Amino acid sequence: MFGNLSDRLIETFKNLRSKGKLSPADIDATLREIRRALLEADVALDVVKNFTSSVRERALGDEVSKALNPAQQVVQIVNEELVKILGGQQRKLSFAKTAPTVIMLAGLQGSGKTTLAGKLAKWLKDQGQTPILVAADLQRPNAVNQLQVVGERIDVPVFAPEPGNGVGNPVNVAKDSIKHAKQKMFSVVIVDTAGRLGIDEELMTQAKDIRKAVDPDEVLFVIDSMIGQDAVNVAKAFDDGVGITGVVLTKLDGDARGGAALSVASVTGKPILFASNGEAMDAFEPFYPDRMASRILD
Ligand code: GDP
Repeated sequence: MFGNLSDRLIETFKNLRSKGKLSPADIDATLREIRRALLEADVALDVVKNFTSSVRERALGDEVSKALNPAQQVVQIVNEELVKILGGQQRKLSFAKTAPTVIMLAGLQGSGKTTLAGKLAKWLKDQGQTPILVAADLQRPNAVNQLQVVGERIDVPVFAPEPGNGVGNPVNVAKDSIKHAKQKMFSVVIVDTAGRLGIDEELMTQAKDIRKAVDPDEVLFVIDSMIGQDAVNVAKAFDDGVGITGVVLTKLDGDARGGAALSVASVTGKPILFASNGEAMDAFEPFYPDRMASRILD
């Protein structure tokens, strides 16, 4: 996903390393290259501006001029600032003190929510949890069925409206699923909600109502890393409209530029909890800002 960005940055640092002592002009030339590489990768303009100004301030300070290897020190600063825009420390999934833990998924249609619901359920099951998936996406006729297929693949039950009641009320389905999970002692409830192709008020109101009904421990905003510059606006809209606690990046295996996804944590102030990188049910892992930064810079 970040191949191009990665190549550009590595090339920039190679040029920098060929110099001994660094002048302010060398640092500015490097920063111009970094800025260009980030913008071309679709990282949001505000994020790029803040990033380059933080790097510049530190790079012109003592930590570089006094360093034995100034170029290496600049790379280190870029690495640390990149970790910061990716959210800093890794943030683990929050579990409820009393089961069940409720995780609500929100995002645009096609972002990968249903697939992610399955991956998350499998990951939790592998850790000894007993998850249940909830089909609260009653907008698309096939959505319930799609979640059931996912549930079967990973052998996790799905709570869904009875066949024939397919156009039920998703808020009631979500509410009933919590009662059901308590009765049957499921430890984690994963609620898949409806997405639209674009942001609309009805979608936001429905998601907000589901949120109120299930009182989730996490509201994870699922975002397709390939959607480009729109990512930032969509993320903000979901955070304002529904209130999110974290972000999941999907389709990191794609070959699009992906930089917009790198902006989401910084723009919303919400951590990225997981990254999803393929269609297989185990193509999924917790997100570590430091590992992602190293992957981009190494
Ligand atoms: P939803 O509408 O948000 O529920 O999205 P889906 O889960 O149905 O996913 C939309 C499409 O993206 C499906 O074809 C999935 O197989 C695919 N998909 C989901 N996650 C990933 C991923 O991480 N990588 C790739 N390559 N495809 C994915």
